[in-house]
Amino acid sequence: MLDERRIRNLNTAPAGTGPVVYLMQRDQRAQDNWALLHAQEQALKNKVPLIVVFSVFTIPSRATERIYDFMLTGLKEVEETLAKLQIPFVVLEGKAEDMVPSFVKKIDGGELVLDFNPLRRVKEQHSTLAKKLPMRVSEVDSHNIVPCWQASPKEEFAAYTFRPKINRLLSDFLTDIPTLKKHPYTIEVKLKNNWQLLPDNLKLEPSQESKYKTGETLAKKRLREFIETRLPSYHLDRNDPNKDGQSGISPYLHFGQLSAQRVALEVKAARAPKDAKDAFLEELIVRKELADNYCFYNEHYDKVAGAHAWAQKTIEEHKNDSREHLYTKEQFERGDTHDELWNAMQQQMVEEGKMHGWCRMYWAKKILEWTPDVQTAIDIALYLNDKYELDGGDPNGICGVMWSICGVHDRAWNEREIFGKIRYMNFAGAKRKFDVKAYIERYGKDKTLFD
Ligand code: FAD
Repeated sequence: MLDERRIRNLNTAPAGTGPVVYLMQRDQRAQDNWALLHAQEQALKNKVPLIVVFSVFTIPSRATERIYDFMLTGLKEVEETLAKLQIPFVVLEGKAEDMVPSFVKKIDGGELVLDFNPLRRVKEQHSTLAKKLPMRVSEVDSHNIVPCWQASPKEEFAAYTFRPKINRLLSDFLTDIPTLKKHPYTIEVKLKNNWQLLPDNLKLEPSQESKYKTGETLAKKRLREFIETRLPSYHLDRNDPNKDGQSGISPYLHFGQLSAQRVALEVKAARAPKDAKDAFLEELIVRKELADNYCFYNEHYDKVAGAHAWAQKTIEEHKNDSREHLYTKEQFERGDTHDELWNAMQQQMVEEGKMHGWCRMYWAKKILEWTPDVQTAIDIALYLNDKYELDGGDPNGICGVMWSICGVHDRAWNEREIFGKIRYMNFAGAKRKFDVKAYIERYGKDKTLFD
């Protein structure tokens, strides 16, 4: 039974008597999906069919073949799994706010269920759908373990203010997840998904192939492999960019092929040292859900205006500091700076679709140091992050960039040129942390980014 606190109604219209439609967006999986379970619960209550729809369109900041291939291949698996459960999966080509109302009208739908997402463009889209449709439209938070609006009613200052709040609610929400059942009420949908033509219709930019295999089954396999082999030393190895110490699951979490709640349940049950499990769950639960909290409550989440007052003050005070190196967006994109380490990090991201977590901090902070102003640094960092990281376009990325460049969720440090009181990182510090030469040899040496 679904906890009602996971659901928010976006309008006051009552549900009709037609099929229930679930618009899958952020949580692209058939199982472990609270929004889909809620949609099925409603459909069973009213003895009506359940239909899952997905609207595909080109998101300009993410329009590469690698990213869409990862997503579309995963969605084909969703279609196959749902077909076995007598639940049609319909791909609509176009933006949800344009495509969903006419589809729902055509099938005489009775209710629309949506995935919660704190990002601006999705919030606006959901509010348009809730206004346009004369039926109940609701959102379910399937992405967070503790629903974002339940974890806290306001923007949190930092992890230390958020941690006790979310930990208090974990026993309510970190429960087992029921299995999606075969649906007894069926409907024939005449539309056939055109998987072959879709990539051409989307007009995507050619890119490197994905190093990551995609889909719900492979995501679970990757999680199991991490738990069995690397979780026991996660707390020791995760910050060394030369080691494969992280889980590597962020692309699956971003596209919702893997449920964070399932990951937490499996990690809690695993045989691994307490320090390793605690360190991992801190990232997966506190840091990840704090990023949603930030984007949900802060309307300026990708602007200097979204930073703490102390940070805005120090940024203003240092805006005219002279910069020894200045690079354009194109120079950054080509990995063409004077810093071999930075170039190697950029190369790792472009080639593999996932930069190591520690490197992401150094990488973003250097963009702050080498651009004329802080907003330009934010824009370039997000542009590169979202275009090349498989897990990009996510509140985690926005929060990571804003933490690095604007001190979001961080505290004031010793004052220095350009950075002011924003935490500083440099090459010497990186050298103390890990074998920088080995990393550069692996990703940077004798390599040209776009050959
Ligand atoms: P693991 O270390 O195995 O962690 C497991 C999970 O915990 C991650 O998948 C993620 O969901 C969560 N997590 C870990 N670290 C963080 C963090 N610092 N903040 C929030 N959640 C975290 N993460 C993204 O998912 N997408 C992004 O686009 C993204 N861009 C970033 C940009 C910058 C500049 C910075 C500093 C961080 C960024 N992060 C981003 C956060 C973090 O670096 C990645 O989540 C992590 O490296 C993903 O690899 P993993 O799954 O192997 O991580």
